[in-house]
Amino acid sequence: MIECPSCGRSPVERARVVHHMLCAYVGPLYDFMPEGSSYRCPKCHLILNDGADDSEIVGYSYHCSACGFEQVEGYE
Ligand SMILES: [Zn+2]
Ligand SMILES: [Zn+2]
Repeated sequence: MIECPSCGRSPVERARVVHHMLCAYVGPLYDFMPEGSSYRCPKCHLILNDGADDSEIVGYSYHCSACGFEQVEGYE
């Protein structure tokens, strides 16, 4: 658990930031709609297919629900 660097009261939620290569959408995984064992892209509405390498994780986003703090951290 990582404590919120802004308010220090609440653990921040960590979410993967996904890049959907078919439509160039980039957003945290919670923006994608769960679909079976995969996710549906909120922009083009296609289902992510891990086997086809049509999406990649480009970083992580941190969000605190207590104070609204948000930070995105990319891979190096
Ligand atoms: Zn906070
Ligand atoms: Zn898409």
